[in-house]
Amino acid sequence: MTRRTPPRPVDVEELFPEVAPLRREAVRLHPRAGRPMPGDSSVGGPLLWPAAEPWPECPRHPGSPMVAVVQVHRGDVPDLVPFPAGRDVLQVLWCPRPHEGQWVVPLVHWRSAGEVGEVRPMPPAPVDAVYGHVPRPCVVHPELVTEYPSWDLSDELWDSLDARFERVEEETGWNYQDHLSTAPGIKLGGYPGWSQEPQWPDCPSCGAPMDHLLTVESTEDHGPEQAWTPVEDRDRRREGAVLSLGGLGGVYLFECRTCPDRPFAHRYDS
Ligand SMILES: [Zn+2]
Ligand SMILES: [Zn+2]
Repeated sequence: MTRRTPPRPVDVEELFPEVAPLRREAVRLHPRAGRPMPGDSSVGGPLLWPAAEPWPECPRHPGSPMVAVVQVHRGDVPDLVPFPAGRDVLQVLWCPRPHEGQWVVPLVHWRSAGEVGEVRPMPPAPVDAVYGHVPRPCVVHPELVTEYPSWDLSDELWDSLDARFERVEEETGWNYQDHLSTAPGIKLGGYPGWSQEPQWPDCPSCGAPMDHLLTVESTEDHGPEQAWTPVEDRDRRREGAVLSLGGLGGVYLFECRTCPDRPFAHRYDS
């Protein structure tokens, strides 16, 4: 079943023309509990991982297997994120065990589906994984949506827009940050769903600001208003990935698309 996010309930670019040039596209994955196969795009695995390669382990917990978080086949999503040449599968894993000073230790891997051969079965998640850090297996329903910056607005734009944001909320009930700017849930591209001051990383190799690759937020729900709830899911309970990242927070993955080895970094907030 497809999932369609309803249009924004007000015309964002007419009310706030300053954000129009900052418009970005994102692909919401809309994970729903299911039985994905290694050849499918999924949240929570199983991954198309070659039997000939060892399963990734946490660098902070040697011998401890990472868990599958997101797998995206290029052909399953709109052409938004540029895959590296010759690669057609994006795989994101992380270690779900507790770590001093950070929630999860992630790994981003780009692979060519045609070179996998025999598939390695996914190992069980560590028994001492933090609750809510192991996504339940889900099939995905990718959907292209339009976003505008929320916390990523510059201070100058905040100053010029703040009074209008408040007036529109008083008149319509729609809050710019919650209902009009960034889509909640798990998504490729677009703007990170920061819930506080952004901390964009710089590339450790070239020093340039990195690109946002993937947001993994705990939930697709944004309160009772259902501004971002797909029309197919109105008034019924959704069975998603059941994540709890710092309560209702999120993990944001970034990458450098100019450095050949695609360095990645992550941030998180709650
Ligand atoms: Zn670990
Ligand atoms: Zn770089």
